[in-house]
Amino acid sequence: MNKTSVPIDQVRVRMAPSPTGFLHIGGARTALFNWLFAKHHNGKFILRIDDTDTARSTDESMHAIYDALKWLGINWDEHYVQSERRNIYDKSVMQLLESGNAYHCYCTPEELEDIRAQARADKQTRSYDRRHRNLTHEDVDRFIAEGRKPTVRIKMPDTPIHVNDLILGSLNIDPATLEDEVIVRSNGMPNYNLTSIIDDADMRITHVIRGTEHLNNTPKQIAIANALGLQLPQFAHIPLVLDDTGRKLSKRHHGDLVAVNRYREQGYLPEAMLNFVARLGWSYDDKQEIFSVDELIEKFDLARVGKSGSVFDIKKLEWLNSHYINQLDVSARTDAVMPFWEQEGLADSTTNRDWLENIVEAVGERLTTFQDIVPQTRYFFTDDYEYESKAVKKWWGGSDEKKQKTCEILTNISQILEEIPAFDLETVETAIWKYTDENDIKRVAAMQALRIALTGTSFGPSLFDIVVLLGRDEVLKRIPKAVAYL
Ligand code: GLU
Repeated sequence: MNKTSVPIDQVRVRMAPSPTGFLHIGGARTALFNWLFAKHHNGKFILRIDDTDTARSTDESMHAIYDALKWLGINWDEHYVQSERRNIYDKSVMQLLESGNAYHCYCTPEELEDIRAQARADKQTRSYDRRHRNLTHEDVDRFIAEGRKPTVRIKMPDTPIHVNDLILGSLNIDPATLEDEVIVRSNGMPNYNLTSIIDDADMRITHVIRGTEHLNNTPKQIAIANALGLQLPQFAHIPLVLDDTGRKLSKRHHGDLVAVNRYREQGYLPEAMLNFVARLGWSYDDKQEIFSVDELIEKFDLARVGKSGSVFDIKKLEWLNSHYINQLDVSARTDAVMPFWEQEGLADSTTNRDWLENIVEAVGERLTTFQDIVPQTRYFFTDDYEYESKAVKKWWGGSDEKKQKTCEILTNISQILEEIPAFDLETVETAIWKYTDENDIKRVAAMQALRIALTGTSFGPSLFDIVVLLGRDEVLKRIPKAVAYL
């Protein structure tokens, strides 16, 4: 495959989110691809807030986007906010009106609705019939006298528009499908297609890398740029992210599942998230799944972005996350799980740090997310847990006779643990094995019976680790409690 040929040190790319909600997976991917492309080519990554839709834009959303990008480690070299750039757009609109490339449209919303309905009935490709392209002065005076507030529409050309997309290839757009787009709303606010291409030119953007959901905007933006005599960027439309049924991943249908912040809150690592998002549509070869950020920067290339949609597979994200968690040393993992313990009121800054690290060490590679620490270790902090019924039935016994036996074993173990001279791994282990082996008790049966008594479940870290970490006093409290239950 050919490398994308880009003159080095000229690359300027941007991510241009509309601050109308949280940063979603698709947005993170757009940001990441642009950022990697910039880094790979020693270029600049620009963050531009597309907030001219004042009714839907919020400051809160803008800050949520900044936070999510920062968490992912996607930093920007320049930053712009469109609502602060109104005069730039207004000037261009004047220019378009004066050159005859744009016109005022005085149609009312009701009229537009009728025009649309008629176009549908006539099976027209356009839904607006361009009726206000050539209004007389009298028409205009009358509409103004009626108090109508006009929009501004761009005149679309009658010749095909050509897009040479770096991912999708060469596309010719039939002019019959092009609407005379509204570029300024009746409230005077400029629309996305206008502001976007003006800013792309003004900010000297070399490559516009964005989702294919914007592909239908591209010819409109090219037409506007041509009418204004602006330099065009190169376009690269990246394929949609789909769910496992092939539906586009969206806030509307998948809600919270697409919010980057959700993963942060649940204890995913940004490294895992970045690695995961990078592979949504891009691949290096058919094999490699794990990429460090430096490796992504080194290897990222638009030529290896596929044309078809990529599937969001949460299992893969979980797998990557546990991989990255397991790379961390115990101290770093303890730092990362601490907020989850704190949230649950299980531990705080006064809790013995060595003890906490030992718990994390005992849990070992069992964490998929940091939030998993809570269910997996709750019993270290409290004896307020239930005995899992399945485990009880299997290991403590269904029959009275078996229960009787379990009580006996637990009581004996309790006594042994009370009497051993030291309460360390080796002493505990030796004493318990000695007891089971001398009394012909299956090791696993004794172990599981004790595990359920101490933790409520039949799974978890090494039992001897648990015994020692709980400490003698706690163990000697929990065993009689289980016996009483039995
Ligand atoms: N504001 C647009 C969005 O959030 C930007 C699209 C573009 O990259 O041009 O989808």
